[in-house]
Amino acid sequence: MSRHPSLLAEVDRLVDKAAALAKVPPDLLEQIRQCNSVYRMSFPVRRDDGTIQTVQAWRAEHSQHKTPTKGGIRYAEMVTEEEVMALAALMTYKCAVVDVPFGGAKGGVRIDPRRHSVGELQRITRRYAFELCRKGFIGPGVDVPAPDYGTGEREMAWIADTYAAVSSDKLDAMACVTGKPVSQGGIRGRKDATGRGVFFGIREACSNVEDMKWCGLSPGLSGKRVVVQGLGNVGFHAARILRDAGAVIVGLSEREGTLCDPRGLDPEAVARFRAETGSLAGFVGAEAMPSDGWLDIDCDILVPAAIENVITEDNVARVKARVIAEGANGPTTAAAHEALLARKVMVLPDVYLNAGGVTVSYFEWLKNLSHVRFGRVQKRYERHVHQRMLKGVATATGAKFGDADIEAMSSGPDEEDLVRSGLEETMIRAYHEIRDAVSRVPGDHDLRTAAMLIAIEKVARCYEELGIFP
Ligand code: NAD
Repeated sequence: MSRHPSLLAEVDRLVDKAAALAKVPPDLLEQIRQCNSVYRMSFPVRRDDGTIQTVQAWRAEHSQHKTPTKGGIRYAEMVTEEEVMALAALMTYKCAVVDVPFGGAKGGVRIDPRRHSVGELQRITRRYAFELCRKGFIGPGVDVPAPDYGTGEREMAWIADTYAAVSSDKLDAMACVTGKPVSQGGIRGRKDATGRGVFFGIREACSNVEDMKWCGLSPGLSGKRVVVQGLGNVGFHAARILRDAGAVIVGLSEREGTLCDPRGLDPEAVARFRAETGSLAGFVGAEAMPSDGWLDIDCDILVPAAIENVITEDNVARVKARVIAEGANGPTTAAAHEALLARKVMVLPDVYLNAGGVTVSYFEWLKNLSHVRFGRVQKRYERHVHQRMLKGVATATGAKFGDADIEAMSSGPDEEDLVRSGLEETMIRAYHEIRDAVSRVPGDHDLRTAAMLIAIEKVARCYEELGIFP
């Protein structure tokens, strides 16, 4: 048994704190806190060796103040009902922070995906999806899953296919799940969306002179030393995009160990090496450290992007970074959070920082319902308009544009351009909304409570304006 409070207890505590500041009446707060429905299931799966494994799984729908509900599905050996409920609640607040019009949900399947063949994973995923269909826990207007820890595009494609086979909804079936491969109704830019959102959030914080002064860093991302824990979907893309933007990745950590190089690591080379060998061990040109060594590396920004409860009161004193950027859900315990703020370490909270995934999932859902790729209708039209404008400018001013300039200035946006700019706008806007609320929170620079305060106010307002179903 962990002696740290459970994630659910931590989320509840945060909600209470924010709700007190928002002055939400106790009866309404009780409804906001509750997880509205949880489907707990067990089902048999035939393993490749002929034996039968009983799999336990859950889907929690925290709040239907907006529908559909939305949240990832995680495959992990240690997943519990309480954890799924806590993560579903976090999704409600996350969607509110970035103005994505969904309630929160989360799914969990208690398996270690590394111990199953692709065939077994497909049987487990399809059976899980079938159970969700049977009980009405999935559907474009009901509950829309997405990838999370241990799942990705492949699992989402299996879920979409199972739903399409079982459901009578033949028109909008694709919108039952997001994070699908592009060939199966996915959207360009979804795969790296959470990592890219982490990057946009960090960049925005680094460009804020006041915030950087508070935590003792110079403004700007260029040259900032970054350590990332977890080289999965979130961590890998965050590291890659941060490096491309001029940050120096001085540490990368996985289950089996940590690599450190003050001159900078190449996330692509490290990930390739790990994919080929199954481990970080033996990577040439970097210092090898134990798995938890990432905490000790001298750096400016620490990005936990693997699992929860990794920065605790027991190890928080080891943190050298001035910014903690929470790519993962719940990586910092409440006690560690207090200790970090007391040392003027800035914490970019999960409920904001990793919202890029659900933001682009929202775009994918819109694409599936509208049955048209973003940019398809207007791309060529915008190109013609821009070209006419350039011609006009050239005629009026005598300016001469080369072919390359004309091409760069006149091309209309394609799907990925629009997705990325929509994500960038969302992350920047939410950052400033949280910053504006921080002065309402007692204590110093408590962005987590500020983000929760905004979220609770939006959810409470929605309930108040909705009225309660008799
Ligand atoms: P993932 O399964 O793609 O990757 C997780 C990585 O963490 C794996 O490579 C795993 O080996 C590594 N890991 C596990 N335990 C570790 C440890 N003790 N030390 C170092 N590395 C360890 O999962 P993901 O989708 O990248 O999710 C990571 C976190 O981000 C989770 O908390 C998840 O809830 C959160 N998140 C994910 C998304 C998304 O779009 N995928 C969105 C929001 C939040």
